[in-house]
Amino acid sequence: MNANTRQYEEYDFVIAGAGAAGLFAALLLHQRGFSVKLFDKKSSPSSHSRSIGIHPPSLNLLHEAGVLKKFLNHGLSVTEGRAIVTKAPSRPAVRNDISASQAYHTVQDDTAGTVASGEAQSKAGKARAKTASKPHKSDIHQIIRDRTVKMGNGENADHILVVPQYITERILTEALPEGTVQRSSRVAGFEQDANGVRVQIQHETGELKEYQCSYLLGADGMYSDVRSMSGIPWKGKTYSWPFCMGDFPDNTKFGSQAVIYLTPEGLVESFPLPGGLRRWVINVDPDAPITDDNSDTGVWHTSTDGKQVLSGPNPTVNLLIDAVYHRTGHQLSPAEMHVFSSFRAHRYSSESSVNGRVILLGDAAHVISPIGGQGMNFGWMNIRALVDKLQRKSDGVHTSNSDLSGYDRFAAGNAQKFGKRAHFNTLVGLPGKPAFLMALITDLLLSAPLQALFVRRFTMR
Ligand SMILES: Cc1cc2nc3c(=O)[nH]c(=O)nc-3n(C[C@H](O)[C@H](O)[C@H](O)COP(=O)(O)OP(=O)(O)OC[C@H]3O[C@@H](n4cnc5c(N)ncnc54)[C@H](O)[C@@H]3O)c2cc1C
Repeated sequence: MNANTRQYEEYDFVIAGAGAAGLFAALLLHQRGFSVKLFDKKSSPSSHSRSIGIHPPSLNLLHEAGVLKKFLNHGLSVTEGRAIVTKAPSRPAVRNDISASQAYHTVQDDTAGTVASGEAQSKAGKARAKTASKPHKSDIHQIIRDRTVKMGNGENADHILVVPQYITERILTEALPEGTVQRSSRVAGFEQDANGVRVQIQHETGELKEYQCSYLLGADGMYSDVRSMSGIPWKGKTYSWPFCMGDFPDNTKFGSQAVIYLTPEGLVESFPLPGGLRRWVINVDPDAPITDDNSDTGVWHTSTDGKQVLSGPNPTVNLLIDAVYHRTGHQLSPAEMHVFSSFRAHRYSSESSVNGRVILLGDAAHVISPIGGQGMNFGWMNIRALVDKLQRKSDGVHTSNSDLSGYDRFAAGNAQKFGKRAHFNTLVGLPGKPAFLMALITDLLLSAPLQALFVRRFTMR
């Protein structure tokens, strides 16, 4: 580096990545009196809602951090879950009318093979809706089990709070002193010694600046640069069945229930969202052309009418609408779609979250399948434990690095525990299982002896 560009600002902590993990860590550290600076390579906050479920242990953490009220103001409380098992219709109808999938293909056709902007989708969807026949009723699966389970009483932290991740990130950002988060700034390199870390930040202008800190926290997501620059091995797997999801106006009678359909063709998750919307998630065929939203190359943009779409070839809007209709009987309209995205489920772990004074957080350290919605939540539990350790170290209670390896074991243990649960949730929803088996599993899990355990596991308690 040219000597003229060297400037050193000093902080206790520099954090790479202003996502859910980096922001939560910054808030806790700031509240304990540490100086913190967050850098994010993106020029603006993410507008995409990946995580929606904030579980009871996380609500307690938010309460402790003094921001729970803001979350409650923006969220929707879920206290009931519902499991519905369906079986395919025994005699598929022979029909002369147009099929459900054909009915919606024009959204694709009209937009030259791309997911259209919200406006284009609206026009295409409305035009088609006038001419298409309704999908045939005899295509719809039959319900063979329908069980409801209480997941909390709605008081204090005894519920799952649904808050889209972009709102979570906004609330956490607003709780930090102004200027803590600096955008368009990529952590490009670092060097560490026994006393601290010198971090190189590449700003959008091309300017390279150096910052000095006691610790560098890598909260830069699944494709973490900090992790690769540290040379920490990263091992795991990507599930072969991709998923897609879309948010639509809620035209169901489910109210605030979180509903899971288990069908021979796979999973349908149906979660209420604030603002009268409902999210539908399905697994799609392994061969479906999926753009992995979790990947670094996914490009989000907001269309002129405020809806968000992922650009690039992606025909799965039709798959989603079609599959939801066949598996559940719920009719969604492409014209009313607010957000659509496809993603792959991953389960990866770093060999270690700690490399001297460089510590990995959130998805940079451990990624688990999003089915069951626990990734952000267990990342926060780990961060809370880490901040306690760092505080004790700073207070002189601990002087060696061995307590940080204790943290590493704790974080890896949580990744193992919650990764297993997410793995179960992912596998149980995959297609190909006989309906009677799914009904049996549902009866077993929701029966009196196992129900309390199931609810505790599902709500991360
Ligand atoms: C579809 C889906 C649904 C989900 N639902 C849930 C749910 O309901 N509940 C739940 O708990 N979890 C859920 N998750 C998981 C959750 O979204 C993630 O665990 C969470 O986003 C991880 O946050 P993070 O801050 O570690 O990473 P990210 O959110 O990926 O943030 C990383 C940040 O780092 C920045 N960055 C990257 N490289 C650099 C660099 N070199 N320098 C500076 N900045 C950099 C990026 O721009 C980004 O802003 C879901 C995930 C998906 C895909």
